[in-house]
Amino acid sequence: KVKEKWAATRVKYPPSILALRHFDSTYSIQLGKLWPSVRVALLSERKYGALLNNFAHHAVLTDLDAQGCCRDFIGDAYTQIQPCLEKESEVVAEEESISVSTKKSDSDSQQPSPLQLSLNIKCLVFPRGDITKFKPARPDTKRLLSHYLMDAASVLPCLALNVRGGHNVLDLCAAPGGKALALLQTHSIGFLCVNDNSASRTTRLRKVLQSYIPKELLTDEKIRITSFDGTQWGQIERNTFDRVLVDVPCTTDRHSLMEDDNNIFSKNRTGERRRLPEVQTELLLAGILAACRGGEILYSTCTLSQIQNMSVVEQAIYLAKENHGIQLQVVDLRALTQMFRKTFDFAPDLPLGEMVIPHLAANFGPIYMCKLRRIT
Ligand code: SAM
Repeated sequence: KVKEKWAATRVKYPPSILALRHFDSTYSIQLGKLWPSVRVALLSERKYGALLNNFAHHAVLTDLDAQGCCRDFIGDAYTQIQPCLEKESEVVAEEESISVSTKKSDSDSQQPSPLQLSLNIKCLVFPRGDITKFKPARPDTKRLLSHYLMDAASVLPCLALNVRGGHNVLDLCAAPGGKALALLQTHSIGFLCVNDNSASRTTRLRKVLQSYIPKELLTDEKIRITSFDGTQWGQIERNTFDRVLVDVPCTTDRHSLMEDDNNIFSKNRTGERRRLPEVQTELLLAGILAACRGGEILYSTCTLSQIQNMSVVEQAIYLAKENHGIQLQVVDLRALTQMFRKTFDFAPDLPLGEMVIPHLAANFGPIYMCKLRRIT
């Protein structure tokens, strides 16, 4: 029999159940008939990708090769689209980057957007429907780890950011550092500032960088690690960075459904959860202010929520114009979704940005991304 006092304080529903109820009521409307299959995928084991560390000695990669039919989804997609692109003469292949543009079928006002991708970023995945797991990373002779396991869809915002030729880059919410690592694989960054307001997560971020990046690169001139409140970045530095990644805290849908620990749907975090869209807007606005004129900003989340995705972007664009006189252009990412449609499932016809939706056969995401360019 349950003691009376204990029964009174006992949590009635664990946060993961509260999350599921919340998602059922909101996403069934937002995603319509797609929701049941996305729901099943979210409640099933996720799939990882192995981001290859090209700073590590290649001998350690034999472990991954030995695992059989995994493939670099970026290089593979390029090889597959290359013949079509050559026919359309829309590709400029450089030694380490490619540029792709797609013709648009509809008639909105955006220009076809050439998409530059760094082929230095390599991420292995197993084929659709194959749920083999990668072995853990191993150190090389210099103690640098061979690969970093992450949701392969998380690499897409890094590809979309299109870092090149000595760019100054800010990663405003960087811990634990998966996307920062992917950006560094391009070897195109002049200076990288990685920031996270959580001290403990910044410590983790530092450890990740030390495990993957050679000491010579971890100098203050090349990589700066800070722990500021990103919403206040405008007080520190404005009009500075060529590229800004704003990978905000969100309801982390997959985590919220699978783990009760540290769950944003727990009762004592209700206020924090409700404030998320406001904080996300402040972070994106700070990222916009930190970018230089002509600079590009990539907003990303790992939630399906329209309120944390498109509504935040719309509000930040509005505030940038009204409060700071900054005009922004939304960059079309359809070339990117076209290129990777065999690896990921994308939400159809999103009015603003692109989103990887989980699918049982390709259980990556959710990842939402929207790219903005500063006109003024
Ligand atoms: N980009 C990271 C990666 O790829 O590994 C993941 C970032 S995670 C989605 C969001 C991060 O935002 C968390 O580490 C959290 O500590 C940080 N964060 C939350 N509020 C913040 C703020 N006001 N300023 C800066 N960072 C913040």
